[in-house]
Amino acid sequence: MVRMKSVDIIYRYETRDTPARSRPLDSVAALDRLNDGNREFAALLENPSDQHVERIISVDSRDLGLGDATLPKQRPFAAILGCSDARVPVELIFNEGPNDLFVIRIAGNGLGTEILGSLKYAVDNLRGSLKLIVVLGHSGCGALTTAVDVFLDPTNYLPLVTMHSLRRILDSLLVVVRASARKFRSVFGPEISDHPRYREALIEASIVNNAALGAYSIQQELGNGDPAKLQTVYGVYLLETRQVWAPRVSEIKEIGLASAPREPAEFIKLGNAIFQSDRIQSLLQL
Ligand SMILES: [Zn+2]
Repeated sequence: MVRMKSVDIIYRYETRDTPARSRPLDSVAALDRLNDGNREFAALLENPSDQHVERIISVDSRDLGLGDATLPKQRPFAAILGCSDARVPVELIFNEGPNDLFVIRIAGNGLGTEILGSLKYAVDNLRGSLKLIVVLGHSGCGALTTAVDVFLDPTNYLPLVTMHSLRRILDSLLVVVRASARKFRSVFGPEISDHPRYREALIEASIVNNAALGAYSIQQELGNGDPAKLQTVYGVYLLETRQVWAPRVSEIKEIGLASAPREPAEFIKLGNAIFQSDRIQSLLQL
């Protein structure tokens, strides 16, 4: 039996006399903080051994209204649109605590009216602290998996015909799956659909395309201000390694959140980067 190391992740509430917990001052610092936080979280659980490891996340007690008569002021530095999947606890995977992140979760992390409305609220009302908007997909996403299965065999759609609420989520994801499948065919030829791991590769490529498209759409709808002040990024949380993965245009780097494409032409380049990424390439190797 392999002995796992024990890990304590501790939220430590500081006394009210300590200085307020710092917040990133711009979008670059906010991005660095989330990437660093995820790197630390992933590293914490790597290399199973019987060691004991402790990680302390300092939390300002005032962010929970402790020791103070006044209500805490809402001051998140990032808004995150993630999937509802219970395996992706957003604050935990970024090493953050209360009042750090404005989190919206919905199956498949797609954009709907209520999602955009919530983000618009954050952008309009929390602009003092908010520096970053993140769209976060995750590997093995059930919503994208269902969309791929419907795409590959439309008879899978029949049981969903009367489930209007589910179809609403699914129909928007199918657009991304179709685009990803078209890209697969143009890069690898039509015989790619016979590859034994085609379904798996199509699911994973669709997941990252969906996150990038979400970030692009949010930027177009809400990001008419200075991008240095409010940046939109995307990534995919890998259940396998607990790291955030994001192939990107004109960079070999694949780990960490990446900036949203700025124009439609960048999607073509991003599509190439996704298919050239180590992760998708390794899925297609037997
Ligand atoms: Zn999911």
